[in-house]
Amino acid sequence: MLRLAITVQGVVQGVGFRPFVHAAATARGLAGWVRNRTDGVRIEVEGPAPLVEDFQRALEREAPPAARLARIYVEQQAPRYEEDFHILDSDPGAPPRPSVPADLATCPECLAEVATPGERRFRYPFTNCTRCGPRWSLIESLPYDRARTAMQRFAMCADCEAEYRDARDRRFHAQPIACPACGPSVRLLTPEGRQLGEGEAALRGAVEGVLAGRVLALQGLGGFQLLVDATSPEAVARLRQRKRRPEKPFAVMFPSLVALRAACMPTPAEEAMLTSPAAPILLLRKPPPGSARALVAETVAPGNPWLGALLPYTPLHRLLLELAERPLVCTSGNLSDEPLCTEPAEALERLHGVADLFLVHDRPILRPVDDSVARMGPDGPLVLRRARGYAPLPLSLGADIPCLLGLGGQLKGTVSLSTGDQVVVSQHLGDLGSLEGSRLLERTVEDLLRLLEARPVAIACDLHPDYASTRLGERLAASWGVPLLRVQHHHAHIAAGMAEHGLSGPVLGLAWDGAGLGADGTLWGGEALVVEGARFRRVAHLRPFRLPGGERALREPRRAALGLLHELDGTVATHLREAFTPREADVLAAMLERGLQSPLTTSMGRLFDAVAALSGVRAQAGFEGQAAMALEFAAGEHEAEAPYPLPLRNGEPAVADWEPLIQALLVDRERGAPASLMAGRFHAALVRLAEALALRVGLPHVVLSGGCFQNLRLLRDTQARLRAHGFEVWTPRQYPPNDGGLSLGQLAVAARRYEEERNVSRHPR
Ligand code: ZN
Ligand code: ZN
Ligand code: FE
Repeated sequence: MLRLAITVQGVVQGVGFRPFVHAAATARGLAGWVRNRTDGVRIEVEGPAPLVEDFQRALEREAPPAARLARIYVEQQAPRYEEDFHILDSDPGAPPRPSVPADLATCPECLAEVATPGERRFRYPFTNCTRCGPRWSLIESLPYDRARTAMQRFAMCADCEAEYRDARDRRFHAQPIACPACGPSVRLLTPEGRQLGEGEAALRGAVEGVLAGRVLALQGLGGFQLLVDATSPEAVARLRQRKRRPEKPFAVMFPSLVALRAACMPTPAEEAMLTSPAAPILLLRKPPPGSARALVAETVAPGNPWLGALLPYTPLHRLLLELAERPLVCTSGNLSDEPLCTEPAEALERLHGVADLFLVHDRPILRPVDDSVARMGPDGPLVLRRARGYAPLPLSLGADIPCLLGLGGQLKGTVSLSTGDQVVVSQHLGDLGSLEGSRLLERTVEDLLRLLEARPVAIACDLHPDYASTRLGERLAASWGVPLLRVQHHHAHIAAGMAEHGLSGPVLGLAWDGAGLGADGTLWGGEALVVEGARFRRVAHLRPFRLPGGERALREPRRAALGLLHELDGTVATHLREAFTPREADVLAAMLERGLQSPLTTSMGRLFDAVAALSGVRAQAGFEGQAAMALEFAAGEHEAEAPYPLPLRNGEPAVADWEPLIQALLVDRERGAPASLMAGRFHAALVRLAEALALRVGLPHVVLSGGCFQNLRLLRDTQARLRAHGFEVWTPRQYPPNDGGLSLGQLAVAARRYEEERNVSRHPR
């Protein structure tokens, strides 16, 4: 007779783990119990030793697909000769170190039920089970039990109750369990809020509207989405105009994997991601325009060889897409970059004039969770926007750190909070520049603190004084009486990559991105930093240039080009004549001459912009990063052409001088070289620069981060080149290389600072 007490930590709540434990124990005739605790799942199990050991092995081998077992602690106990195996109520007493589950895409079993006439849940949009369904978007507090979710207002019917209590059922203790008799339901509304139908009629009315070219606002899993017919250029144009989003690509939801395959030809690895419980938007190669497979309107992702594709991840989406029998644009329910709408009343107000129809339901969304965006990188998946399906799964830091709060950046906001040895990074919050955005940031901080019962002993933020996150940090630090640590933007980018991969440094970090405030008050963004512990040293950067108009240059690549040419000589007018009216050229030249509103920058993103403008790829941009993306696409898959010269000038820090690069580019341009050649030579130059930096610094570990490394060609070629020299190359994978990773990096720097201070006080000199 053997009795074991087993504590399992990791992602083990809300993923069907307790029912699985119950089934595994009873199948072996073992007795004992399992219960959720705030720090994981606790199991006590007893029976004949070989069966208990077999059970222990099954825990790891056969756990449900969405479970992630981070740690298992086992301890032997005296047998108590119990008779049965029970699932006990959650134990609220344990110390808070919880892992909150992410929302999970509908599982195949639930999809089959929804599709089967005669099933209780035939065509029921809110079908879920212990292995799938909403989690993070409906959890009010922990531990994860129905009474503490948005489902508390729905009393289970007798049938659901029976399933919930039956240990052999797939819905045994499925907290969001629901059925047509007792669960949430849908209604179709006009923009004025008048009801057009409910249930099946609402679904059909919504799809009829979409097929007639209307814009549908759908209350989805983690917020509202806007849906239109992706095969109709008119419908897409209508959505673009109303959403004030002229060019930025939209994601497209396909009715099924079969339909998606016909259009995009995903690889097996990509299919695995699309159909995983996270079910992100995945960037896939588009079929060539005009080909038989090109079903989706070109205007969905204009001029872009990639299409963000996803599969229905709730039964509601599945039913709509099946009725539509065609791919639908599926984009965030907001105006340009504001936060998502989550409530029907709010959506009717904020999306007035945008949507023609509103398909809403009565299961409250407790926090906005956008769709995640990923792409397949050279070494596997890269998460570019981390939200549904990934947030708030924790990152283990390997050792306990104090409770710290990282507040992130401005354009791709996230919040990070540490408890014990884990960091929870919030879902993507979007642009924090609006009033709604900064409110959302504040609410998210409160939400995480409450859920994790955390009291931070320090706060970390960016150096930029005008970020909403910095201002919130100043306010919170003052009211809590805790220190505020301002972490340099690019330091945070590299620190986030280090935290994800468990590196303590020293590493060489190449932080290439749009722009972040530097330690010297200029805008950095083409940085080589040596990072160790809580410190960094700037070992090299791009040669600085002025950005006429500052922030306005983000949407005008031609301005960055103007700034570069201004540094060279007075030939601006000859080279960029067609990009500016004479009046514009005069005004900008005067600004540059006097240094008025023309901050100095070393931004790699702006160098991309300048090269895009000079090579004729793109002089204006509808959104930040568009020109850089266009340059990546122009470079295509061609192998590296002779790189442009981009020499490193000695100094402390060293300076990567783009002047010879621009001169050579202008020569190419004069002789009418194709843009693809210029784009290719530019990418190759950056790869050589990375190589030169790595060889010069000589550290074995190199971390590549910052928004520029979302560029697959740059990432792939740089990695390959550095690895050929034997460097270990690391890039963010689970957390975005863009500003969505900043809060994690800030927190990591603060953690290292604490560690160092503690060591200092332990060993006084
Ligand atoms: Zn399911
Ligand atoms: Zn029911
Ligand atoms: Fe950045």
